[in-house]
Amino acid sequence: KMATAARKDLDGNPIKPMTICMIGAGGFIGSHLCEKLMAETPHTVLAVDVYNDKIRHLMESPADGQHQTWAGRIQFHRLNIKNDSRLESLIKMSDLTINLAAICTPADYNTRPLDTIYSNFIDALPVVKYCSENGKRLIHFSTCEVYGKTVGSFLPKDHPLRKEPEFYVLKEDVSPCIFGPIEKQRWSYACAKQLIERLIYAEGAENGLEFTIVRPFNWIGPRMDFIPGVDGPSEGVPRVLACFSNNLLRREPLKLVDGGQSQRTFVYIKDAIEAVLLMIVYSKVSGEPAIEVPTVDVSSKEFYGEGYDDSDKRIPDMTIINRQLGWSPKTSLHDLLESTLTYQHKTYAEAVKRTMAKATAA
Ligand code: NAD
Repeated sequence: KMATAARKDLDGNPIKPMTICMIGAGGFIGSHLCEKLMAETPHTVLAVDVYNDKIRHLMESPADGQHQTWAGRIQFHRLNIKNDSRLESLIKMSDLTINLAAICTPADYNTRPLDTIYSNFIDALPVVKYCSENGKRLIHFSTCEVYGKTVGSFLPKDHPLRKEPEFYVLKEDVSPCIFGPIEKQRWSYACAKQLIERLIYAEGAENGLEFTIVRPFNWIGPRMDFIPGVDGPSEGVPRVLACFSNNLLRREPLKLVDGGQSQRTFVYIKDAIEAVLLMIVYSKVSGEPAIEVPTVDVSSKEFYGEGYDDSDKRIPDMTIINRQLGWSPKTSLHDLLESTLTYQHKTYAEAVKRTMAKATAA
């Protein structure tokens, strides 16, 4: 059902249709955002990516008439932003640019640090520059990794202050960014993201760039990454939920890196996308409220290779997002795991069995 007419911006005005240049639209977050924009807003999306498998279903010719509502509102542009002069004209044609493109799988940070730094910093530079020069608003996807380790992680293990929120809750405008030493190459990702954040902030301060920086805390759900050997390289290591799905599908124990001590906050992708939609129509600060499974221990060195390190704990302060967007996530961890793992099972169970049978026969 179309909800286009019902959507209003945070001032209560009807949303004017706009053109959005979405870079990295073919990825996990991009595919969910494209779906939402097609189904519930009048906006047009110029979808930029090197792959389009995850959004192909939005571009196929209408079978049931439903797709007519977004016919022509999504266009795929296959290009690599590293080296393509078409990028500037796409940004110029748009009212808003959303940049999602990045290498963002932890297994790459310490094993492919150069690609990670280039992808997250150097390749994002022209996007920021074209937005600034052409007076276009930018929504840039950074990461909660920019906070690094918590202040509390440096206290002795049983120190009572470790339990005090001010020693671990991460606040956008207050918390410091604490990374490990240079030889822990894991931090190359967070550091590149931090530098592009600082550049965007400086473009805002010096040249008036209008921007929003988003720092997701583990958004998870269907279409995240790949299952090794099925729709991705067999030696590839995806993000944690896809790793666990792969273990479950193969009936292997879950691999817990360094004893599984690190803590994360998980948000269901569909809840998170609601917040992104609010950022797109955001116009002024609004005051409105708005199984029991066996596991195995694996060392980080064995799992990720030399140079790995980790954030101890990631818990966001929710004050600013609550105040500005009136948003809080609705889906419980239990429900989001159930729907995501059901999707993983439906999508991959047969294919995993086939690859395992092939491996045994060989
Ligand atoms: P993803 O890997 O699924 O999507 C990224 C997309 O960008 C891919 O489709 C990829 O092909 C594309 N891309 C990369 N380099 C490109 C290039 N040079 N030219 C064109 N396209 C390119 O990742 P995602 O989970 O959708 O994450 C999107 C953004 O959000 C990333 O910047 C990531 O760092 C950030 N983020 C995500 C999470 C999360 O929980 N999913 C957490 C923290 C940060």
